[in-house]
Amino acid sequence: MNPDSWKAMTDIIKHNAPAINTTHSTDIHPCPAPFSQLYITPRTLLDLRFCSYHRPIHIHDQESFYEQCPESLKTFFLKNSELNQRRVAFLKGDYEKAGCQKGCFWYQEWKTTGKGFILDEYLDSDGNPYLKKLWLSIGPDCNATCRYCLDPSEFHINFNTCSPSVMKMAESFVENGGKILLTGGEPFLPKFKLLPALERLAKIDRHKIGHFDIHTNATLLDDKCIDTILRSPVKTINISMDTLRPDLFEYLRRGCKFDTVWGNTLSLVRERNARSLSYPSIVILCAVMRDTYDHLDETISKIVDQGLEISLNALSQNPQ
Ligand code: SF4
Ligand code: SF4
Repeated sequence: MNPDSWKAMTDIIKHNAPAINTTHSTDIHPCPAPFSQLYITPRTLLDLRFCSYHRPIHIHDQESFYEQCPESLKTFFLKNSELNQRRVAFLKGDYEKAGCQKGCFWYQEWKTTGKGFILDEYLDSDGNPYLKKLWLSIGPDCNATCRYCLDPSEFHINFNTCSPSVMKMAESFVENGGKILLTGGEPFLPKFKLLPALERLAKIDRHKIGHFDIHTNATLLDDKCIDTILRSPVKTINISMDTLRPDLFEYLRRGCKFDTVWGNTLSLVRERNARSLSYPSIVILCAVMRDTYDHLDETISKIVDQGLEISLNALSQNPQ
């Protein structure tokens, strides 16, 4: 599909597709993902898709893909025929053919409330989809083996399959104005060279580049790391903790020391406040399960007392 025909095609679909029901207009879509983001999981092959619900599309030669970023990303996003077929199905309201799953929060919200997104706001001045955001999941390379995540006794896990070259792609994307949600595994593992990448980006005017939101277990946030984070384009640091009860924390988050993680978290807050910075936001992530639910009020109040934000995520099963 060439870019010149893209806008014409979306106009034809918009004007000919019937409204799906009285609450749904064909101008309102469940999410903007097919027009704005890629979910990327670099493993033995490099896998790309619009969101985690979709079937991945594989890139075999990932090293040259990283070398040619951000052009290779832009070209893939605009011209990959499988992605474009899924976009067309999505625009027509054929979400099954688009690869969407019924369990998707955005799809369910759109279906039940009719609230959604207007495509035009996600097209560039030439009327083409515009890649603004990457969700980059660089697991499973981690220095912990949490019981509900990378537990080798429960799951077959291919550790250390993520190529460190992936950080070249991340750096060039942010340098060119993109936003990245970086999740692990653990992004601050030395093998990924995230700190040198942040140091280089720290030298560029913050207003001319994009930013990172980073998920971390905070085990490696020493003074040097904290200093780099506070000078670089990091908008949010999300720290996985689940509970602030030390024994339970160390049982669930096997391989993480409570005193190290909580101490590093408080150092980051202290140093950010000492420099009078309003960024990054520091958010404690709590997986809610039977073991953490029974003292959730205690966890929330300890977190809020420190001036931290909190995000709760329900886990369907309690780890054994
Ligand atoms: S599965 Fe959900 S998030 Fe993914 S493209 Fe479809 S509606 Fe959007
Ligand atoms: S620190 Fe995060 S990525 Fe690592 S094992 Fe725990 S939950 Fe999984």
